[in-house]
Amino acid sequence: MSLNYDQVIEKYEPTLGLEVHVELNTKSKMFCSCATEFGALPNTQTCPVCLGLPGALPVVNKRAIESTILIGLALNCSIAPYSRFARKNYFYPDMPKNFQTSQYDEPICVNGYLDVQIQTDEGDKTFRIEIERVHMEEDTGKSLHVGGSTGRIHGAEYSLLDYNRAGIPLVEIVTKIVPDTGKYAPQVARAYVAALRDILRGLKVSDVKMEQGSLRCDVNLSLAQVNSGKLGTRSETKNVNSLRSVERAVIGEVIRQANRLEDGERIIQETRHFLEESGQTRPGRSKEQAEDYRYFPEPDLVPVVPDAKWIEELKKILPEKPADRRKRLQTTWSVPDKEMAAMVNAELLDTVEETVLLGADPTKARSWWLGEISRIANDRSVLATELISVKDVAQVIALITKGELTDKLARQVVEGVIAGEGSPADVITKRGLKVVSDDSQLMKAIIDAVAAQAETAQRVREGNIPAAGALIGAVMKATGGQADAAKVRELLLKHLGQ
Ligand SMILES: [Zn+2]
Repeated sequence: MSLNYDQVIEKYEPTLGLEVHVELNTKSKMFCSCATEFGALPNTQTCPVCLGLPGALPVVNKRAIESTILIGLALNCSIAPYSRFARKNYFYPDMPKNFQTSQYDEPICVNGYLDVQIQTDEGDKTFRIEIERVHMEEDTGKSLHVGGSTGRIHGAEYSLLDYNRAGIPLVEIVTKIVPDTGKYAPQVARAYVAALRDILRGLKVSDVKMEQGSLRCDVNLSLAQVNSGKLGTRSETKNVNSLRSVERAVIGEVIRQANRLEDGERIIQETRHFLEESGQTRPGRSKEQAEDYRYFPEPDLVPVVPDAKWIEELKKILPEKPADRRKRLQTTWSVPDKEMAAMVNAELLDTVEETVLLGADPTKARSWWLGEISRIANDRSVLATELISVKDVAQVIALITKGELTDKLARQVVEGVIAGEGSPADVITKRGLKVVSDDSQLMKAIIDAVAAQAETAQRVREGNIPAAGALIGAVMKATGGQADAAKVRELLLKHLGQ
């Protein structure tokens, strides 16, 4: 039996649960003063505390707690007046202490929610995702298995361990079960992770790079027969690391579980891994054996007791919610829905806003970033903002507005800046890209064009205005595209008595 997604969803109701891990961007680690820079040489950012050497004592990073409280506030959570760290005991080579310091039954933020909007067959619909808890923990180190063909430990000759990541502050955001999404479960899951990522980016507490693992999502999914009123057994797909993969992982698990149930088999509670190539999942370790972590309160750390005044101060610095900000910008700029969505999807909203804040017209800022610059960026597989600075783009737009550059010249200026020829002013000087606005110079070119195309000129004199196009074209060519076309048109028509 092999049902496809649409067939499955007529018979089965999916229930979601999402756990998102976010690496905070604090300068130092969660419990020691080691640096957290990404990409440093292995084991150069370690000390007795994050290596778990005997006698080393941890101290909590205040900035990490502040970031976690900010996340909780942005997700409408209550901030616990008292929370504690616990030891989560398990042995794994990338855990040098043999336990992970985490929050267990006393998390710092509880009971929040995040509303996400998706498009459904009946128009836009909002789903409220309830947040169970936001808690702090520390990241593990990284292992590298060398030799063997798969990069996995099986078949490897030896393994290398890098503890630079061990002890980097992680925040885990756990939803309550998300019921009643029906066939939209995949889109709801994706929209939730996207909305969360936007909030975290707005709070500036993480660089939220899914591809570098600073934001990863575990997708819990179970199925039950429609209208059965029961919950099925769930699977947990670990470390899904792109928005598209979150959506595909939900679809993959819905189909896999339904087909097992159709075949009369039971769903095993287990962790699974998502396979990018196929969009399917494969089993990881079985959760039933792994869950006995023997948690107990961490004796080396004092409880976290944030005072009310501090929380009030943090509330004041909470930035505008991303959804509200989008609405505000859309209204101020008078941008249609579709173009607003294009800016958000291209992750260029901030960039366009910065360009506008430097004085550029919103329509022009949007069309440069999403047009020419994005096109070159896509060709080279880099980010638009890596090619050219906001300041340079704002300057080019200012020169267009002042009439010192035509759109065509501006494209050459942008190309020059991207090619490393310097600032817009440098490129203009080096390439001689000034708009020819000197009337006498333009008139000379106009008289030449009229002489060369006497018949066309005569038709324009007789009132055939569209025929002027050929003459304007000749003038533009003669001036190397550096004339202001509107100006040429005006002078030409006047010259021909129109
Ligand atoms: Zn350390």
